[in-house]
Amino acid sequence: MDENNNRILVVEDEKYISDIIRYNLEKEGYEVLTAFDGQEALDLQQAHDPDLILLDVMLPKLDGFEVCKRIRNVSAVPIIILTAKEEEVDKVLGLELGADDYMTKPFGMRELVARIKANIRRASLTLGPEIDQAQPSIHTFGDIVIDMNRYEIRKRGELINLTLREFELLRYLADHADKVFDREDLLRNVWGYEYYGDIRTVDVTVRRLREKIEDEPGDPKYIMTRRGVGYYFRTPA
Ligand code: CA
Repeated sequence: MDENNNRILVVEDEKYISDIIRYNLEKEGYEVLTAFDGQEALDLQQAHDPDLILLDVMLPKLDGFEVCKRIRNVSAVPIIILTAKEEEVDKVLGLELGADDYMTKPFGMRELVARIKANIRRASLTLGPEIDQAQPSIHTFGDIVIDMNRYEIRKRGELINLTLREFELLRYLADHADKVFDREDLLRNVWGYEYYGDIRTVDVTVRRLREKIEDEPGDPKYIMTRRGVGYYFRTPA
């Protein structure tokens, strides 16, 4: 059992599921808050500043998408969306929402706990006071400029809006330009998942990145697929 005092807000209107999640997270040493509708989720987030939020999509009052958007406006807290529908995955990972991750119901508790740990660990790394002004952090690739410290990317001077995860994937690939990574590598190194990742997460994030940074997402020139292997960032000629 891990010793920790991280506080998790569980937003799930089905009491039975909420109880199971609470039981399992408390067993892991987490402090658990539960909300049963969208408005209560917003209230508890504001009052208690949790370290991570598990957020069901289908909720009374405000749905999980709306709750996610509103929390993102005021907080960078990691949010894992719980969804019952595969089709929602695209929306969940989308820029509009800014969720960090999703899990499709039904899911196992071991996997849930692993995801929570990975997301809290990443948040503590990326949200810390890490900008080192002495360290030049601007990398230029063709018409794309990545500011590694400021989490900014510009294409022909124009700021491109990426989610944290999209940025981290791009940064990782660009840091190792021309090296091919398989999806499991990327899950491990970008998402921090050792065993429990879902490789579709990588594919969806790559597709979204391409839509944002490539002139022709269907014929990319930066984020390349190596068929049967994985992805790599191609150094522009
Ligand atoms: Ca629900």
